[in-house]
Parts: sequence; structure tokens; C-alpha cells
Amino acid sequence: MDQIIRIAIDGPSGAGKSTIAKAVARAMRIDYIDTGAMYRAVGYKTIAQNIDPQDAAAMRAMLDGTEIDFSQGNIILDGKNINEEIRTDAIAKRASQCSALPAVREKLVQLQRQMGQMKSVIMDGRDIGNNVLPDAEYKFFMTASAEERARRRYEELAAKGQDVNYQQVLSDIQQRDHSDMTRELNPLRKAPDAMEINTTGMGIEDVTDFILKEIRK
Ligand code: C5P
Repeated sequence: MDQIIRIAIDGPSGAGKSTIAKAVARAMRIDYIDTGAMYRAVGYKTIAQNIDPQDAAAMRAMLDGTEIDFSQGNIILDGKNINEEIRTDAIAKRASQCSALPAVREKLVQLQRQMGQMKSVIMDGRDIGNNVLPDAEYKFFMTASAEERARRRYEELAAKGQDVNYQQVLSDIQQRDHSDMTRELNPLRKAPDAMEINTTGMGIEDVTDFILKEIRK
């Protein structure tokens, strides 16, 4: 059997993790696992079912009856593809709230570890290198200034025809950075053995090539 390779990519929102991880997965013909989509799926379900994330009993019952999986790169929640529905700022905010809850992290981290056990994967998120796959063969920590990340996000939303305000996008990003970095459980932090890549001013291809070269070294 071929050797299993696990690649962890962490970093704040908008650093380009998922775009780069997808490109690396394609080039290496391995699976890409978007762990942020899993937290978004939980956030989405709390909104759809009108569940207050602070209601521990309701959250526990909801999580016990929840199935999250990927199929051909799409996130599947209880059998339904919700890939498009979860890409809104409201869901991102709710996902970030839910991601601070121990019951949510416990369930999703367990699933993520299973996904990284049997086959080669590239997984992106906030706690992959430190917590989900601490033995990953390759770890990268992607950053970019908050202004650059807000600009990328703004352009992405504007291109979709959404009515967006740059200052609002920037302040949302700063708020989410703050809660992701200061939460008690598995906060966003560079793993000691991760290689840091500051992508400010770098294009998608530059970063993808850099990572592929590091892996093929
Ligand atoms: O990466 P994405 O923006 O889709 O993630 C949404 C939210 O999910 C993040 O702001 C973060 O709070 C949470 N998350 C996490 N741990 C991960 C991935 C995402 O806490 N491994």
C-alpha cells in the first residue's frame, strides 16, 4: 500500500486556506477535508431548527441526531447537500459561536480524525496541526493581513452580486479572528512545527506551488 500522507493547513478566515488546499488536493490526487464546512453545518442546523447554542441540552440532542459527511467535495448534513447554503456571513458567525462549545468540538474532531486515518488527506481549519492531526507529515500555517483578507472576501461577495460594505467585512473578520484566537478550547494557534506562509500579495498559484515544492522536497 502507498504511504499515507496527511497535510494540515491552519490559519484565520480568508487567508486562502480552502482555495489552496483544493488545488493541492487536485495536484496530489488526495481528498480535501474542509473542517470549517463541518462547523458551518452545525451552525446552519441550529439556525434552521431555531436552537440556541447556549442551550446545552438542546445542542446535545441535536448533535446526537446529526450526520455530517463529505461526498465528492460537498458537505452533506443529514443526507442533504448544503454546500451553497452555508457560505454566508450569518452562518460563519453562528459556526464560530458553536465551535467554542465542547460538545460540538468533541463530535467534529472525532469525525475528522476518522477521516484522516485511512487515506491521504489535506485538511484545513484552525486546530488541525495542533489537535486534530498532531502527527500530520506536513503542517502549514497561512496568514495574511486582516485588510487583505477583508479585501479578498469583499471582492468575492461583490462578484456574486451581493450588496457588501468593505468596513463591515473587515470588522466581521476582526471579530471572528478575536473569538477564534481567544476561545478556551483549541484556539487558532500556529503549531510549533508548522511552516508559516504569509500570503499577503501572493497569488493562488504561487502559494500552491510553494506548498507542492515543500512536500516534494
Ligand atoms: O473556515 P471557515 O471560515 O469556514 O470556518 C468557520 C468557523 O468554524 C471558524 O470561524 C471557526 O470558528 C470554526 N472552525 C473551528 N475549527 C476548525 C475549523 C473551523 O473552530 N478546525
